[in-house]
Parts: sequence; structure tokens; C-alpha cells
Amino acid sequence: MEKPEESLEKVTDGLGLEISKSQKEQLLWYIHLLLEGLNRQRLVGEKSGAALIEKHLYDSLYPLKIWSFPPGCLLDLGTGAGLPGIPLKICLPKLKLYLVDANRRKINFLRRVAAELALSETYLLPGRAEKWGRDPIYREKFNCLVSRAVARAVILVELALPLVKIGGDLLMYKGKNGLNEIEEARTAIRLCGGQMEKYWHYYLPTGEERTLFLIKKTGPTPEAYPRRIGKPAQKPLGL
Ligand code: SAH
Repeated sequence: MEKPEESLEKVTDGLGLEISKSQKEQLLWYIHLLLEGLNRQRLVGEKSGAALIEKHLYDSLYPLKIWSFPPGCLLDLGTGAGLPGIPLKICLPKLKLYLVDANRRKINFLRRVAAELALSETYLLPGRAEKWGRDPIYREKFNCLVSRAVARAVILVELALPLVKIGGDLLMYKGKNGLNEIEEARTAIRLCGGQMEKYWHYYLPTGEERTLFLIKKTGPTPEAYPRRIGKPAQKPLGL
């Protein structure tokens, strides 16, 4: 079994990432907390540090290889145990990070992560995306929103686009069926004020296929969206 330090080296080399020694230490400490949390609460599926690094960390950091995040506020919607938001914040410490999750246990875990890693400007938003998307403080305020493994694209765009600023970006991390999901989400993207911009197809060091979609918010999201809690998933837009 590879040591976590060696797996991390592989990931940063593979992504062409230049980060400091203290950023590497933060990433490794985060992996350590995930493993510890995992033993107690099953926060993520993987059981070894190397697997976490080569799968979840590589995937989370992949956009840094091919894209530049806009400065300002980044929201991770359905962050779970902090993926991809926490690794992105470690690598781009100037971003203001907001983490949304409906699960209290995960929010409590993230509170501990933010404290132990001494992350600056990291804010936890417990509760459903449908609620935050209607909150005037947060609606259409984020320069960029990321989301991974939360819902099918057609559902996710209704939850995510209301929170993105006009001119801002939505990055959706998807698996190998990403293109089918985007096809299904075409109407929902348009209705919520978005426009499909670009996508990248890539492989994790573990061999899994992934797709990353960039959707631009080009116009305002109508008042009607997001619909009430649960509705986006029960009756996806345009289907
Ligand atoms: N992004 C993480 C977690 C994926 S699990 C990762 O890549 O590992 C999906 C997470 O989304 C869960 O923690 C769940 O609580 C959260 N979630 C699902 N629907 C949500 C909603 N409507 N609002 C807020 N959080 C939601």
C-alpha cells in the first residue's frame, strides 16, 4: 500500500499543481480527518488514505488543471464531508468558501475540519439547497458554484443556478454518463438562466471515467425556481 504522501505527490504531479508544503500538510490532515470520520460515521466510501487521495482528492482538484476559478465566493452545494469544496479552498485560499448540506452530522464534521485546518473565510450553511436558493442574502450571489455526486444534472441545475450570480459559473462533477445527464437537463438549464459552455472528459488515477461541465449563468433565474423542497427531484424540470 502506498503512503499517503506518495499518493498525494502522484496527484499533484498528475494535475501539474504547485502547492506549498503547508498546503500539502493541510490536504493530508484533511484526508486523515476523513478516514477518522469514516471509521466512526461512514462519511465517504473509501477505506484507505491512498484510495481517498487518488479518487476523491484528484477528482475534486481536477478543475485546477484545466480552468481558472473566478475570484470571490465559491459555494459547494451538497458538500457532504467537504468534497470538492475543502480541497479547493486549501489550494485556492483566497476564495471565500460556503458549504451547503442538508445533513447535520456532516455539517458538524465540517465545523471540526474548518477549525483543525484553520481555514479562513469558510462558512457552513446547514439545510436544503431549495431553502438557500430562495434566501435573498444568498440568491444570485456566488461567483462560482461546484457540486459533486449530489443529484442528476436536471435536478441539480434547478438547485444550483438560482444561487449563481449572473455572469458566474456552475461546475458540475459527473461520472461517465454525464453527457446523457446534460442532454436530459437541456430545458432545465435554459429555464433557470444558464447556458452550457464547455465540458471536459477525464480519467481518475483509479481508471474511472469522469466528466466536468461548465454552465454559465447568462440571465436571471425566474422567481419560480427553485421550487419547494423535494419538488425538483420529484418532478424534474422539462421532463
Ligand atoms: N459532494 C460530496 C457528497 C456527496 S453525497 C462528495 O462528492 O463526496 C450528497 C450530499 O448532498 C449529501 O451529504 C446530502 O446530504 C446532500 N444533499 C442532497 N440533496 C440536497 C439538497 N437538496 N440540499 C442540500 N444538501 C443536499
